[in-house]
Amino acid sequence: MSPIADHLQAVRQRIDRAAQACGREPAAITLMAVSKTFDADAVQAAIDAGHTVFGESYVQEAIAKIALLRVAPGQLAWHFIGPLQSNKARQVAEHMDWVHSIDRLKIAQRLSDLRPDSLGPLQVCLQVNIDNEPTKSGVAPADVLTLAQAVHGLPRLQLRGLMAIPAPSDDPAVQRAAFARLAALQQQLQDAGLPVDTLSMGMSDDLEAAVAEGATIVRVGTAIFGTRAYA
Ligand SMILES: *Cc1c(COP(=O)(O)O)cnc(C)c1O
Repeated sequence: MSPIADHLQAVRQRIDRAAQACGREPAAITLMAVSKTFDADAVQAAIDAGHTVFGESYVQEAIAKIALLRVAPGQLAWHFIGPLQSNKARQVAEHMDWVHSIDRLKIAQRLSDLRPDSLGPLQVCLQVNIDNEPTKSGVAPADVLTLAQAVHGLPRLQLRGLMAIPAPSDDPAVQRAAFARLAALQQQLQDAGLPVDTLSMGMSDDLEAAVAEGATIVRVGTAIFGTRAYA
């Protein structure tokens, strides 16, 4: 087995054990392999191991990589998880299946306007600055409902839920508290009648805490592909 196939299996086992430990169905949790900074050969190794869900942070890097893969069209799901710049919105709208980093209405409107009719609606999550960190991107927790209602009204987007990258902590209780706050915001949206079903939370170092608090997509890079050469 390739090292990447091995790592995928090990991460899947971590997810499954974390789900079982809290009485959740393991199949309810999607593993997104975050392949940013890794080349097409690394992605191909994951595909050859049967993996189909990938996350990227830089759209040009993603498009170049996708072109090199040996895979039947439509077999993969590509999730954009990086900072959204308005001059890159067209490429994101044309090449990605999901966007997890919506943090303002203007960029959401642009993605909706630019999403080709030949594709289904772009699946989107709002990125929440869950720890209210001054330098971090993401919508403030207090503004999530207003933004969610506006995004829900856009014709070519489908609002699926919330994403967050909490401030790093080694303390599982602190990790869980941040994920619990995101889950509570999700509940607030559901109470307001928004049909959101996705909590995108948990990475290589904190996925167990995220699963315990209800993650439906975990975004894992390092534990699958190794240490990145740049951030
Ligand atoms: C890079 C990245 C990840 C993956 O992080 P790891 O710690 O390598 O698992 C997850 N989510 C986002 C938004 C990222 O940018």
